[in-house]
Parts: sequence; structure tokens; C-alpha cells
Amino acid sequence: MTAGSRQPPFELTPITALKGVGPQLAAKLEKLGIRCFRDLLFHLPLRYIDQTHITPIGELQPGSYAVVEAHIQGSQVVFGKRRSLVCRIADDSGTTQLRFFHFSAAQKERLAPGQLLRVFGEARRGAAGLEFYHPETTLISADTPLPEGLTPIYPSTEGISQKKWLQLTEQLLERCGQTPIEDLIPKEIQPLSGRAAIADILSFLHRPPRSVNAQDLTQRSHPLQQRLALEELLAHHLSLRQQRWRSQGSGYALQPALPLTKQFLQQLPFIPTAAQVRVHQEVSADLARKMPMRRLVQGDVGSGKTLIAALACLPAVAAGKQVAVMAPTEILAEQHFQNFCRWLEPLGLRVGWLTGRLTAKQRQTTQEGITRGDLQVLVGTQALFQESVTFDDLALVIIDEQHRFGVFQRLALQQKNERAKPHLLLLTATPIPRTLAMSLYASLDISVIDELPPGRTAIKTVTVNNERRAEVITRVGGNCAQGRQAYWVCTLIDESETLQAQAAEELCQSLQKALPTLTIGLIHGRMSGSDKDRQMARFKAGELQLLVATTVIEVGVDVPNASLMIIENPERLGLAQLHQLRGRVGRGTAESHCVLLYQKPLGKTARQRLEVMKTTSDGFVIAEEDMKLRGPGEVLGTRQTGDIQFRIADLSQHQALLPHVETMGETLFTQYPERVTPLIERWLAEREQFAEA
Ligand code: ADP
Ligand code: MG
Repeated sequence: MTAGSRQPPFELTPITALKGVGPQLAAKLEKLGIRCFRDLLFHLPLRYIDQTHITPIGELQPGSYAVVEAHIQGSQVVFGKRRSLVCRIADDSGTTQLRFFHFSAAQKERLAPGQLLRVFGEARRGAAGLEFYHPETTLISADTPLPEGLTPIYPSTEGISQKKWLQLTEQLLERCGQTPIEDLIPKEIQPLSGRAAIADILSFLHRPPRSVNAQDLTQRSHPLQQRLALEELLAHHLSLRQQRWRSQGSGYALQPALPLTKQFLQQLPFIPTAAQVRVHQEVSADLARKMPMRRLVQGDVGSGKTLIAALACLPAVAAGKQVAVMAPTEILAEQHFQNFCRWLEPLGLRVGWLTGRLTAKQRQTTQEGITRGDLQVLVGTQALFQESVTFDDLALVIIDEQHRFGVFQRLALQQKNERAKPHLLLLTATPIPRTLAMSLYASLDISVIDELPPGRTAIKTVTVNNERRAEVITRVGGNCAQGRQAYWVCTLIDESETLQAQAAEELCQSLQKALPTLTIGLIHGRMSGSDKDRQMARFKAGELQLLVATTVIEVGVDVPNASLMIIENPERLGLAQLHQLRGRVGRGTAESHCVLLYQKPLGKTARQRLEVMKTTSDGFVIAEEDMKLRGPGEVLGTRQTGDIQFRIADLSQHQALLPHVETMGETLFTQYPERVTPLIERWLAEREQFAEA
């Protein structure tokens, strides 16, 4: 960078300095967050294709992409099921045809017999042998050169063609040749081998040579991509750390409310486990600081996270402030409401309840209570963070089953106080493997409840093939005859709620036929909230012996007398979800069982996954296994990673990099603090707001 010059540094030169970038194109680029040279340089191809060699028609393989060069024999419009333009081409090795469903008269003219045509596309099996559907076509002369390197395909937006991206990046790379961009990661902290400078890595990724395998590059497994992915993960990590450092000192310091806490514990029907006590202390220490708490409590299903939440309310309430407790479903919110009322009202606290299902009148009364500060603890669903809800003085936000919420929803609740940033306590039963947590949750402190309350018996899990369904049904009948209850979970993944509901209804009917003496209830996502709650309440009260349900019962619901769970097609669910479901039983003292009723044939991964469920009940082990089998992206789900848009890092490819991220982050912060912001800006320029939560 040239000191003293009035020109912006090379990296920050406005994109309009490139030839052919006028206001219109600049506006489109802006939509993708591209404003300056740096942004374009870090706009990396999504995938690569190899167009460097020609495949003879006779050697085409179905399902593979290929470049073909051939003479046009003729083109005609064919009237089949749909009108299409079919163009027959031939080279020395054979003939094939191209098919276009959308075409113009000009296109038909252009594809005139005798012309030499270069075609790129996927050869697919059609009615008349291999065909290309909507391939790219270029009329060429015999000496038109093939591209020298792999063809990058850029993420784009409407109105910017791939050709345009090539032109833009071509210009930029030329200029980079004269003014290469700086390396921000000091060589001595780089854990991966290789000496390539970042400028060279970027130019390689924009224009890879033909010697590289396009597929490897598309999968981001090339060593140079690993180097860059590491830098990107590091930038995200740093941004999270910086974010939390900035929020220092802007919250309420809430002192422990000792008398109230003592009173609370005295009326509790059980004694907290050592793990609950430890985590409670961690939370109390956070609350007492002015820096807003951002703590994630991980604890297996049934480990007693609700108690931690209730205890956390006390210092806030004692200080005359409010707490919002948010749960992902009505059922769960209601259960919390009941617990909080039972635990907190005897202490003289006023607990309120807000969901989408209140009548307008109830809603208004509650909202007024919140605004005036009459209600001290508010339990509810998403309805809590709607704009119309204003708090008198919100000091603490508690979010249960946090993985169910999007980042922005979390943000909205935290912005409900203009005077001070509320403390944030997240609870989750989906354990996040440590390496992931350390790098992607750098803005959160983590507590773990690693102990279950005494007296719980492990759930025995078996896998049963669907051909033995009748035996399973008999077993359900036997279980219920002994006065215990059972769940039967019906899964239809990726189908509409309507289909799921239908499947559950049919299942319910067939079970009722097979077990006529049982009282069977049904619960699914198409039912109204109050219907769901009614069913759930009847099940809780023991009026229903068997509850047929879709995965809506997944989180948090507590019915201690339920000791048997059947899960249909468990092979369709992720391990974490299975674990959550299974956690609905084993909440009482009776021995509990879980039957995974699978459909043959099982693939290898599916078999491995069910095996994991059989052999362990430890949520952390399950999370680690899930990550090994499916990759971190899947484990976290789109809800969580969907908010993090990586340019090159891919959690399923680059897991092994995660342990480096934390140590490198530490070194940069302490020894090279001046590099932190440039590194974040380079990778996250317009995206930093995502790091908030
Ligand atoms: P989760 O961590 O899954 O949210 P909950 O908070 O719903 O677990 O607790 C599960 C059940 O265990 C509840 O019925 C709760 O009252 C009970 N419980 C919580 N802590 C203890 C404890 N220390 N001893 C005995 N029972 C407990
Ligand atoms: Mg819970």
C-alpha cells in the first residue's frame, strides 16, 4: 500500500475502476456485497468444469459432462408431449442429438446444417440414445482454441452472466499481478504446509490449470483451498470474538439474590445435582457482570435445564427487572409456564404467558402487564419478540432448545431493551461437538450439565425390522396393559405437514384396529395449538394410553409414566433428532424402552447410525458420531449454519481445520492485534452483522 498517496489502497479500489463496470452493473454487484477489488477477489467460484478436451461422441458416458465438437446434420422442431427443437450432430465416432424445449426462431436458424458446433453439457439417456438437453453451444471454426484451464462457475445474480464474471476477474487478476494483495496470516502461525502467498492462491482458484481435477476443486479438497478455508474460518472466529469484546460493559450487573434463591431451593421437591449447582454458579457469576452474558448451556434431555433457567430469573427479578423465556413450541412453552408458575409464584413473583393463541383481549392484558412491568417473568413462543411487545425493563433473555430458532429471532429479543443489552442464556439438548463449538460459537461461553438426576434408568434401545411389526404392536398392548404409556412416532421427512398428518391419522386408525381396548390419541403439526395441547394434556393426565405423533413431540415434553417409544423409519432421521425423541421416555423410574422400527434394506450409514443409537445414550457421544457420519453442516442444521455463508470453507470437508482455528485466533489477538480487523473485513466485509448472535 502506498503511504501518502490519495488513491485508496489497491484492495479497496472501487469496483467501478474496472473496464465495463458502469452504475448498472455496479448496483448488481453491490447486491452480492461486491464494492471494491478485494470483494471481487474473494468472490470465489462455486464450482469448476473441465472444458479443456473434446470427447468423441462414440465415447460419451451417460450422466457425465463433456465437450463435443461435431457438424450439424439438421435441426427440426418436433411435436411430442412438448414442442422441442432437436438438432442432430455427428463426428467421426458417431451421432447424437441436442434437445431444446425453449428456443427461438433465431436459434433454429443458427443451428444450420454443415456448421461446426462446440457443445458442452451433460449427456443423458433419452428416447433415442444419449442426448444433450439445453447444452451450451458455440459455432466455431476448425481452429477455435479450447480453454487452457478449468472453467470457473461463479455464484451470480440475475443479469450477470458467467462470461461477465470471467471478464471482470480476468481484468482484476491482471492488475493483481502488479500489486499483489497482502498475506495477513503470519507464516509462523500457519499450521498447514505450503508456501504459496494468498495472492497466488486466489489467482489459482480463479483460474485453475487443466492439470487439476475439476471435481476435487468443486469439492474444495485441494490443499490450497484448505489454506484459504482455514483463513476464512479464522476470520469468522475472530469476528465472533471481536463482537463479544465490543459488547463489554453495556449490560446490567445483577447480583445473586441469595434469600430468594434459598427460599426457592427449599420449596423444590428435589435436590439439584452437582452439575446443576456448578452450572447455576457459572450463570450467576455471568449475571453479576456488566458485560452481557452469552452462555449456552448444553445438557442431555432430562438433565434438568429448566431448573437452571428458573434460578437465573431470580437475580433479575430481585433487581426489579424482567425476564423473557422463549420456547420453540406451544407445548413446550406451556410446560415451562406451568413449571415457572409452580416454582416462582409461591415466592411472590408474577409470571406471564404469551403465545400466538391468546385471544386479542388476553393478549392485550398480558402486553400491558409486560409494558408496565407488572409481569416479571414472561414465558412464551416466538410471539414474545413481535414488535408490538414492549418490555418495561428486560434484563435477561432465556431461549430453550436454541437450535430451533434462527439467528435473527435471537437478535430481535435482545434488542428489546434500549437502555442496556439483556443477558442471554441459551439452553440446548443437542450437544455441539467441542471443536465446532470453539470455533463457531466463539461468541458464547459454554456450560455443560454432564449428569442426570438420580434414579433414572437407561433407556434400552432395540432395532426391529418392519416385517416384525405385529410383534411390536403386541408389545405396545402389553406395556399399556401394565398401566404404563407409550409413544408411537410416525416420520415422514421432507413431506408436507398435510402428508405427515395424513400418515399419522392412518397409522392411528390401524393401531386402534389392532389394539381395540386402548385409548389412543393423535398429535400432528396440522392440528391447532389448542387441539395439540388438549391431546398432550390428556396423555400427561394418563387418560390416553398410547400417543401417536409426528416429530412435533420432539422437544422437551415431560411425561414420566411413558416408558415405551416406537419410532418408525428411524433411518430417515438424524441421530440428534432420534436422541431427542428417545428422550421423551426414561423420565420416570420404570425401565424404558425404545424400538427403532426400520424399513429394509438399510444402507451402510443408516445401519451404523442405528447401531450408535443402540449402544450409547450419551448425547455428546451421539453428537460426535453424528458429525463423523454426516459432517458438521448437517449436524448443526441449516438453522445454524444457514446463517453463516462461507465463501470457501465447507464444514463437511474442512472439519480437521477447526482445532487450529482457536489457537490461531488466540495468537492473532495477542500478538498481531492490528491484523484482526483487516482479516475480518477481507472475508466478512458486509456480513459482520450475522455474527451478532
Ligand atoms: P431438560 O434438561 O430435558 O430440559 P427438564 O428440566 O425438563 O430437563 O427436567 C426433566 C425432569 O427432571 C423434570 O421433571 C424435572 O423436574 C426433573 N429434575 C430436574 N432436576 C432434577 C434433580 N436434580 N433431581 C430430580 N429431578 C430433577
Ligand atoms: Mg427442556
